[in-house]
Amino acid sequence: MKSASKFEKIAARCWNLLNEGKPFTPIFITGTLILFNFDSLFNRQEAVSFGIAFLVIVPLLVIFYLYDFPLFLRNYLWLPLVAFTFLWQNTNLPLLLFAVCLYFFFTVFFWGTLYYHLRIGTSWLNFTRFWKLVLKNSDSTSGNAQEQLPKVMLILSVWNMVFQNHQSGDHLPLMEIGYFYVGLLVFTLILHHFLFDWKPIPYKEFTNGPKISPKGISNRVVVIVVDGMRKERFYEANTPFLDKLKENGTEYLNMETVYPARTVVCFTSMFSGTYSFEHGIKSNMVWKTGMRVESIFDSLRKVGKKGRLLAVAHLVDSMGDDVDTFTAVMHNDKADPVIMEHARRIMKEQDPELMVIQMIATDQTGHSRGVLYDEYIQKIEEADKLIEQFVEHLEIEEKMDDTTLIICADHGQADGIGGHGHLDEGERYVPFFMHGPAIEKGKKIQEKQSLVSLAPTIAYLLGAPYPSHSRGRVLTEAIIDKKEEKEIETTENHRFPASL
Ligand SMILES: [Zn+2]
Repeated sequence: MKSASKFEKIAARCWNLLNEGKPFTPIFITGTLILFNFDSLFNRQEAVSFGIAFLVIVPLLVIFYLYDFPLFLRNYLWLPLVAFTFLWQNTNLPLLLFAVCLYFFFTVFFWGTLYYHLRIGTSWLNFTRFWKLVLKNSDSTSGNAQEQLPKVMLILSVWNMVFQNHQSGDHLPLMEIGYFYVGLLVFTLILHHFLFDWKPIPYKEFTNGPKISPKGISNRVVVIVVDGMRKERFYEANTPFLDKLKENGTEYLNMETVYPARTVVCFTSMFSGTYSFEHGIKSNMVWKTGMRVESIFDSLRKVGKKGRLLAVAHLVDSMGDDVDTFTAVMHNDKADPVIMEHARRIMKEQDPELMVIQMIATDQTGHSRGVLYDEYIQKIEEADKLIEQFVEHLEIEEKMDDTTLIICADHGQADGIGGHGHLDEGERYVPFFMHGPAIEKGKKIQEKQSLVSLAPTIAYLLGAPYPSHSRGRVLTEAIIDKKEEKEIETTENHRFPASL
């Protein structure tokens, strides 16, 4: 079975530069303006003007890098563009039209058709679906047309105006542009301060869980993360095996993911027990590899136990050598079966106490075909069968005795290109349930919980210390306290004969 090659790991990072909205904006704008002025840039003087004009737009790039105008805030991005047009009356329509065409060419054809065809075998006709998805998409990627287009148009307009003025020796309205930037910054700060108020609230304290017994509660924990499995779509799907686990275990009905709901951020939070501001992973684009805090894998090492994460190459950026990668370049119908096969081999060869598996087909179908179509439900149903076969296999191998099974998603997916990041409808609450001899049966927990609780809960189950910066709470209500049960048993034994 193929692991992700070194080339794939580098390619995945390069792709992230274009996939995450923040690095995409400056790259796309520079590319567009170079292409638009391709002829003139061979002239030295014009190239100098181009470079000087670029320096003028740097503050704009910084503002939009720091503030991405999530969800409905993106509607406000048109106002600065209108203000620019009104103030300078210097709108270059051919340039803006060229940028819009290039943007849809990149998202709909390059990404939605060519890229997905080559990587996961989607049809050459995927653009017939993908353009609709890009138009409504609301996440933090470059595929968010309603966020990217006004930003791109504004920055290109300023850059082009300064470039043309410098070239023709006209007065550069630097002072006015400076005031415009200050106005934009104030506008941005006000919007983000007063309107951006839907982020999940982090736990303020570090984990204050029950005392950990070195023996632990379970011999083993197996976590299966069905990447991007949206909660109500999971309920709609026909998943007899997962339903059985859910009904015979403990289900958390309001399990919340973290902000921003990007895969690498979510996984890092799930396995460190803390948030972006502390572990340092802020999006799928990881500039500095390795999380800044301890992970559950570090905790397990301290007590001589082993944890493995079987996942795509992106997760190496955060969790390094604790990850066994699989290649993400294969037909999407084959991806999950291949991953589960790989997982069986790891269980056999490495026999880890903690095994985490990321299943990617559901997420990939959501991204390439949308979550509101039947193909997405079908992938969830396939995941159900694969998990059933995997668990049966572990039972035969006698690896399920005293094993706790946890099934969850890292985030849901919104409409559009299965977007997730800013926490639109469908992203925030994820399926989450636990099953095993140490887990309460038929229990439903209504109270809101957070995915950061996964790491301390695993630590408690396996008798390892809580990771250094863990803030989540141990999900004790799901765990049968054997000692307490015995005590109750004995007191009852005493009581009954007495009352008889
Ligand atoms: Zn994900």
